[in-house]
Amino acid sequence: MEVIDGRKRPLALIVDDDETVRLLVRQTLEQSDFDVEEAENGVIALSAFRNRRPHIVLLDVVMPELDGYRTCRAIRQLPEGEHTTILMMTGLDDVDSINEAFDAGATDFITKPMNYLILGHRVRYMLRTMQAFESLRESRRQIRHLAYYDSLTNLPNRRLFGDRLNHSLEIARRENHLVALLFIDLDNFKRINDTFGHTVGDNLLQAVARRLLHALRKSDTVSRNTEGYHLSLSRLGGDEFTVLLEHLKRVEDVARVARRITETLSAPFLFGKEEVVITPSIGIAVYPHDGKDNEELIKNADTAMYCAKDEGRNNYQFYTASMNASSFERLSLENNLRKALDREELQVYYQPKIDLARHKVSGMEALMRWNHPDLGMISPDEFIPLAEQTGLIVGMGEWVIRTVCRQMQEWVSAGQTGLKVAVNLSARQFRQDNLVDVISDVIRETSLDPQRLELELTESVIIDDLEASRGTLAELKAMGIRISLDDFGTGYSSLRLLKELPIDSLKIDQSFIRDITSDVDDAAIVSTLISLAHNLKLRVIAEGVETGKQLEYLRVKKCDEAQGYLIARPMTADAFENWIQEHRKSRRSASSKREARKRETRKLSRCV
Ligand code: C2E
Ligand code: MG
Ligand code: MG
Repeated sequence: MEVIDGRKRPLALIVDDDETVRLLVRQTLEQSDFDVEEAENGVIALSAFRNRRPHIVLLDVVMPELDGYRTCRAIRQLPEGEHTTILMMTGLDDVDSINEAFDAGATDFITKPMNYLILGHRVRYMLRTMQAFESLRESRRQIRHLAYYDSLTNLPNRRLFGDRLNHSLEIARRENHLVALLFIDLDNFKRINDTFGHTVGDNLLQAVARRLLHALRKSDTVSRNTEGYHLSLSRLGGDEFTVLLEHLKRVEDVARVARRITETLSAPFLFGKEEVVITPSIGIAVYPHDGKDNEELIKNADTAMYCAKDEGRNNYQFYTASMNASSFERLSLENNLRKALDREELQVYYQPKIDLARHKVSGMEALMRWNHPDLGMISPDEFIPLAEQTGLIVGMGEWVIRTVCRQMQEWVSAGQTGLKVAVNLSARQFRQDNLVDVISDVIRETSLDPQRLELELTESVIIDDLEASRGTLAELKAMGIRISLDDFGTGYSSLRLLKELPIDSLKIDQSFIRDITSDVDDAAIVSTLISLAHNLKLRVIAEGVETGKQLEYLRVKKCDEAQGYLIARPMTADAFENWIQEHRKSRRSASSKREARKRETRKLSRCV
């Protein structure tokens, strides 16, 4: 026998004014493992029902005081009586009385005189059926929950959110209210999932949900606060949450809620010893200004959220109509970029670097260009962030490395020795699992001496995941490749990184070089950086050298190399070949003129 309500045996209540019937039914049911309670009329039956809550009631029809039909109706009115099994025992086997029994709420009927052998089976069978119904009913409340609530955070899910938004817009239309939709996306959540695993990711989402609920003032998902508007939080999936503000009177209140969300998430989350910091990007659309229906509001809040991401994340943005224009531009740029590689629209330009002590070209930096047939030359600052976000950078970067190594090997074979080429790597490329394999394949394919290849990385790319970076850098170094720290001075400028990581050189960002001859602070910074790097046995390269004075200052301060428009702008491979020949020719003639002058001076001094 299954356990029911924690009791071992189910309880039957027999209601009959005939003592013999009660006795016979009791014996039958006890043999079938029931506990039995008796009542000799309807009034006693009702109080027994309230006290004992039987699983099944066997009810005689004709009784003094309260007859069976009325007793049945009364039981059905009781809170616990709604789903109880009630079997009417009727001596009247005419159809009318049977109908009346069902009308009164009986589950089934059995006619007198009773076959007691069958009664036991029948009662047990009925009970089992009722239990099956009961659990079905329970799993229906559960199924509804699953359909409308998110199982991870218990917040309303996308479907319930959609229904609520619909409903609140209907009311807003009728009553002239504002409704605001805040679309929240957690920044870099994927990275947290990848780094710490999905369990931490899930726990983090739960913790974020709890904090948001708390910040939105109540432990319920819906609350009406002192400003008079309703708030409700939902999770649409992944790291996307929404807050719906109904009955809103002032748009300013929305900004306050957005700020509260950003603030509440700003404290780190603790997982064991790990501290995880998570920031939100929030897009806001307000009915009726930014959309008249669900679809338009959601789309525009989403667009505003992407703008918040573009603005550097961890902020909120109200939707504006111009955002759609720019997201359209972005979309078409993205579509074009996808085709750029196949259509051979990408090119590599080379910008020379010179060795300041030896007065000669030390190498060049490879810089990607996108030559679009209609839009013309597009700068890497415009398309690299997009390529990075969409993941297209991986394929593009591989193409750059292959093109550069092949070109470099051609130049070496043609007698251009003593040059090194530097390739830029973005964050996503550097995080790519097979980066080392890709580079070593290319080096093998092109037979380039790896010592001729240099990789330029910014500090932020390295710091993003320091442990992983350490491993990748060590593997690249082991292959003989050189590592250069790009745009130094603009980011963390961490001495520890310079000391601990296998870095060969650092490139001082052009923003410091620009004013070295006019701004004493910049001059001091550059001079300090140079001696600091030298103490750490690093070479120093100055970027963005545009004037002779800047070059002179750098030479005096013993900067190792310089790169910039003063020396040459980035150029195609063909142009670079011409440039280096011209450069060498003019250096040769300059040095032979110098030699001639020296000889002349020596002759003169001998004469004197
Ligand atoms: P970066 O690595 O710091 O490259 C130096 C940038 O400064 C280049 O801009 C170069 O053209 C510019 N520049 C050089 N000399 C001067 C100068 O005297 N004055 C001024 N004002 N600018 C100068 P570019 O080519 O537009 O590249 C911009 C950035 O795009 C690069 O900055 C680099 O971070 C990225 N990038 C370029 N090519 C690639 C690539 O193949 N892969 C990746 N991942 N990033 C690339
Ligand atoms: Mg660079
Ligand atoms: Mg740079």
